[in-house]
Formats: sequence, C-alpha cells, structure tokens
Amino acid sequence: MTSIKNQIISIRERIARSAERAGRDPGSITLVAVSKRVEASRLLEAIDAGVYLFGENYLQEAVEKVALLPKVGWHFIGGIQSNKTKLIAETFDVVETIDRRKVAVALEKQLEILGKVMPVYLQVNIGREIQKSGVLPEQVEQLVVDVMQCPHLHLAGLMAMPPYNPNPEASREYFRQMKGLADDLLQRGSVVHPLELSMGMSGDYEVAIEEGATVVRIGSALFGDRN
Ligand SMILES: *Cc1c(COP(=O)(O)O)cnc(C)c1O
Repeated sequence: MTSIKNQIISIRERIARSAERAGRDPGSITLVAVSKRVEASRLLEAIDAGVYLFGENYLQEAVEKVALLPKVGWHFIGGIQSNKTKLIAETFDVVETIDRRKVAVALEKQLEILGKVMPVYLQVNIGREIQKSGVLPEQVEQLVVDVMQCPHLHLAGLMAMPPYNPNPEASREYFRQMKGLADDLLQRGSVVHPLELSMGMSGDYEVAIEEGATVVRIGSALFGDRN
C-alpha cells in the first residue's frame, strides 16, 4: 500500500473518532485533500484511495490539474483577485474564499455568462489578523446579504483559518466562535439552511471537528510536507 493510502486510512479513522467524541455522524464530515504543489500523479494515488475532493490555492497550477483530473471535485481555497474570477468560475466546483462584495459580484457575472450556479463559502478572518484575508466576524451578515443578491452564487458555508499555532488547542476557541457565527446566522433567519463549516487543517482538524467542522482541508498530513 502506498504511503498516501496509509495516510488517508489513518486520517479517516481520526476524523471518525473526533466525530464520535462530539456525538456526530462520521459520515457527515467531508475531507478536502489540499493538493497545492502536489503533482497530479500523487493525486491519482489519493483518488485510488477514495478521495474525491481536492483543494487548490494557485489558479494556474490548478487549471492544469483539473484538465488532467476532471472527474473529481475541486474547491478553490486561495486568495481571489476579482480579475481572475473568469478562470475560477470555469475551473472550480466550489469557491471557499469569498471575502468581499466586489469578488462576489465579479464571480456572479462570470457564472451568469457560463450559466453555472456555484456553491460558495465566505472566508472569515476569525483571528482578526492584519495579514490574512477574510471578512471580519461582525461583517459576515452584510456579506451574506450581498451574496444572496447573486443568483448564481449558492451560499453554502463559512470557512476560516485560525491564527497559526503549533498547539491545536489554541485553535479551539476560534473554531467555537465560527460555530457560533454559523448558528447565529441560522437563528436570525439570515440563512435558511445550516451552513457548512470548513475549518481544520493537518495540525488541528480533530479539534475543529469536535467544535463543529463539517469540512476539513488537509494537505501535509496526507501528501507529506510541501517544499
Ligand atoms: C495549505 C492550506 C491548507 C492545508 O494545510 P495543511 O496544514 O498542509 O493541511 C488548508 N487550507 C488552506 C486555505 C490552505 O492554504
């Protein structure tokens, strides 16, 4: 068995155990394999082991891989410049990094041309970090309204990346705040269905699931360290 296969088996087990600890159905957690800077041949090994969703940060790199592997699902998890939305609309199945109205409107325009409806997540800057993109927590509700005005965007979730900390327990409070944000939106009627919560990476996905993540984005734990 390849090491990628082994890693996937072990990650799936850990996902299941975290879900059980939280009293949740392990089947309700979606694994997105983050494949930035990983070659297509290695993605094939992951596909062989049952992975069917990949996350990419860099547009040009992603376009090449998607052309080679069109039958799996592709999440865009990188920063968005509004002049790149045409390529994003054409290439991806889900965009997780909508962080401002301008980007939502630009993507809407491209999707309308394609006649394609895209599930999108709003990226929240939950740690209020200057260097990070994402809408601030108190501005999420307005961005929800902006996205709802775009008929080709289907608001499907929230996404966040807490401040980097090697101790996964340091992320717990941020994950909890994200869950609170999503629950509030539902309770206030800003959204009519529960939102996906895309949070948790290689170092902290177990904590994220314990706190309500429904989507985890895992790269290095699956493919090894990126160079
Ligand atoms: C790179 C990246 C990941 C995966 O990080 P790992 O620590 O390698 O699991 C997840 N989400 C985003 C937005 C990323 O850029």
